[in-house]
Amino acid sequence: VDDDALQFLKKPTIKFKDIGGMDKVKDEIALKIIKPLQHPELYKAYGKKIGGGILLYGPPGCGKTHIARATAGEINANFINVSINDILDMWIGNSEKNLHEIFEIARRNTPCVIFFDEIDALGANRSDVNKSSGRTIINQFLSELDGLNNDNDGVLILGATNTPWHLDPAFRRPGRFDRIIFVSPPDLEARKAIFAIKLNGKPTEIVDTSEIAKKSDQFSGADINAVIDVAIEQKLTESFKDGIPKPLKSRDIVKAIKKVKPSTKEW
Ligand code: ATP
Repeated sequence: VDDDALQFLKKPTIKFKDIGGMDKVKDEIALKIIKPLQHPELYKAYGKKIGGGILLYGPPGCGKTHIARATAGEINANFINVSINDILDMWIGNSEKNLHEIFEIARRNTPCVIFFDEIDALGANRSDVNKSSGRTIINQFLSELDGLNNDNDGVLILGATNTPWHLDPAFRRPGRFDRIIFVSPPDLEARKAIFAIKLNGKPTEIVDTSEIAKKSDQFSGADINAVIDVAIEQKLTESFKDGIPKPLKSRDIVKAIKKVKPSTKEW
C-alpha cells in the first residue's frame, strides 16, 4: 500500500458515548459488527453466522456517518469513508479498480470499518456511465462484499443511502447488506443528549438541556451543531470587550434556535 492510499485510513477517536440517542442503532451495530470480532467463539457455539454489513438510511445530518466513525472508534479500528460518487469513474473499468483497491487496503489494515456513503448513486441513471458498465460496478461491489477465502475477516461494512428501496435486491442477500436500519431524526431525549454532548467543555451555565431540547423539535444533529455555532458567535462578540468568556445560557440557545431552520420536516 503506498502512502497516498494510506492517507484516507484514519483511526477515529469518537465513541458511542459521543453520540446522542440512536440506542437501537448502537445495539444492532454492537451485536452484528462489534461483538463478533470480540467473541467469535460465542457466535460459533450458537451457530450464528458472522459477517454481512448494515445499511443505514434516513434524513441527512442525523448521524449516519458519525455512528460509522464511532463504530471504528469503539474497537480502535481503522476507518475508511468512501462516497460512491467519488469512486464512480467516467473511464470504464476504473470504478471497479477503485472499489477493489479500497477493499484491499481495508483487508491489509484490519480491523477496518469501511463506510460507503451515497450508495443510491449505484442505482442512478448517470449520463456518463452506460447501463452495462453500471452493472459491472454493481457486480464488482457484490463480489467484494462476498470476499473469497474469508479474506474479509476484520473488514466491517456499513453503508448509507437515502433511498434503500431503489437498491438492487442482490445487495440485501445474507452476508451482504443483510440488515437495514432507519436512522430517525433525534427525538426529545436524543436532542437532550446531543445538546449536552456538544456543550460539554464549553463555557456554559446550562446544566439541564431539557428546555432547549423541547424547543428544537425537528432539528437534526447537524442542525444542533449550527444552533450552537450561532449562539457561540454571539457570545464571542460579547466576550471581545473584556476578553472574558461569557457563559452560554439557555436563552442564548433559544434565540439561536429561532435563527436556524430545522431540516428534517418532511421525514
Ligand atoms: P448525510 O446523509 O448528510 O451524510 P449523516 O446522517 O451522515 O448525513 P452526519 O454527518 O453523521 O450525518 O452528522 C452531521 C453532524 O451532526 C455530525 O458530524 C455530528 O457532529 C452531528 N450529529 C448528528 N447526529 C448526531 C448525534 N446523534 N449525536 C451527536 N452528534 C450528531
